[in-house]
Amino acid sequence: MPAKTVVQILMVPAQALGQPFLQKCYNAHMLQRAGFMRLEIKEKIQPRIESARTVLGDVIPLTTPYVVFIDPSSACNFKCTFCPTGDRELIKSTGRYQGNLHLDQYMKVLSDIGEFDKRLKVLRLYKDGEPLLNRHLPDMIRMAREADVADVIDTTTNGYLLGGEMGETLVKAGLSRINISIDGLDEAQFWKFTKAKVDFPKFLANLKDFYSVSGDCEVVIKTTKEIIGEDRKDEFLNTFGDYCDRIFVENTSPCWPDFDVEERMGITIETGLYGNEILDVKTCPYLFYSISVNSDLSVSACFVDWSRGLKVGSLKEASLKDIWLGAEMQSHRLAHLQGKRDAHSICGKCSQITHCKADNIDADAGKLLDLYRQVPEDQLSAKVLKAYEREH
Ligand code: SF4
Repeated sequence: MPAKTVVQILMVPAQALGQPFLQKCYNAHMLQRAGFMRLEIKEKIQPRIESARTVLGDVIPLTTPYVVFIDPSSACNFKCTFCPTGDRELIKSTGRYQGNLHLDQYMKVLSDIGEFDKRLKVLRLYKDGEPLLNRHLPDMIRMAREADVADVIDTTTNGYLLGGEMGETLVKAGLSRINISIDGLDEAQFWKFTKAKVDFPKFLANLKDFYSVSGDCEVVIKTTKEIIGEDRKDEFLNTFGDYCDRIFVENTSPCWPDFDVEERMGITIETGLYGNEILDVKTCPYLFYSISVNSDLSVSACFVDWSRGLKVGSLKEASLKDIWLGAEMQSHRLAHLQGKRDAHSICGKCSQITHCKADNIDADAGKLLDLYRQVPEDQLSAKVLKAYEREH
C-alpha cells in the first residue's frame, strides 16, 4: 500500500493525539506531502547524515555490507573546483575510466548483491560522477527495486538534469531518497564553482516541479557555506526550503585524499562537515560496512577512492561477495585495527573519517583486532599489508 494511503488511513485517530505524537510516529515528509501538515523551513533544517545509527562495534564483522555504492557514471557535466572529477586533466593522469556503467554490467552487480546473506540497508547509486548522465539510471533503480536488494535506494546529484520527465521517472522507478547538491545561488556563483552556465530560474523551476511529483521519495538539499557565502544562508534556505524535505548548509570538507580542497578553493577549514569537531580517528569505519563498485566494474575499498589507489578487485574477475570477504579488504581492515592508517599513502591523508562525522569504532578496535587476527595468513594480501608499512 502506498505510504501516502497509509498516512491517510492512520491520520484520523492520530490527529486526535496532537502534533508531537504525529511527528514521532509518522514520517513528517509523508504527512506534509499528503497535505496534513506543513513543515516550516526551520523544521526541515537537518543534516543529510542519519542520526539513528547502528553501533558498528557491536555488529562487525558483517557478512553483508550495509551500504553498496555503485557509480552509474564516473563522468560529470560540471567542473567543480572542490571535486577531483571536476579536474579533467587530473583524472586523466590517473588513467581512470570516465564514462557510464553499462546496463548489462549493472545486472551483474545486482546479481552479485543478491548473493549476500541479507538485503543491504542502502544501495547508493552514486560515487564519482553525475548519475543522471546515465540515461539508464531509472532502469537501474527499477531493477534494484524489483530484485529487492536494499531497504533504501538513493542517489546524489547536482540536480541540473532533473528537468523534464527525468525526476518523475526516477520516483516512479522506486527511488527512496535523492540528495541534491546546490552549487550556487545565482549564475555567477554556479560559474565560479562549477564552470557551468546555469539558467538559475529554470534550475529552480525544475526543482520545484520535481518536488511536486516526488511522492514517497525524500528530497534532501544541501550546499556549503563556502559556495554561497555566510551572508546568504537565509536566502538559500528561503529559496530552496519549500522544495525539499530536509535542507542544510554544510562546511566544505577535505574529504578527498590527495586533493587539496583548501588550496583549490582558497579557504581554510577549521570545523567538520556539519560544524562538528574534527577528530583524530585511527580506524576507518567505512571499510567495515560499505564497498564501492566503479563504473568500469572495478571495486574500491571505499567511496572516496577517486584515484583508484584503493582498488580491491574487479567484478569482471570475482563476485562482490568474494571481494567483500576477500584478502585485500580483510588486510585493509586488519591494518586499520592495528593503528597503521597514518602509514598508508591514501588512507593516511584521508579527512573523510576525521571531518565528516563518520562512525567512530576506535574504542572497539582492540576487541575487533582479536577477531581479525584470526584471519589465516593465506587469506590476507601481502601487497596491501606492505602498503601500511611505509615510513613517513
Ligand atoms: S580512511 Fe579514507 S581513504 Fe582510507 S578506506 Fe577509509 S574512507 Fe577510504
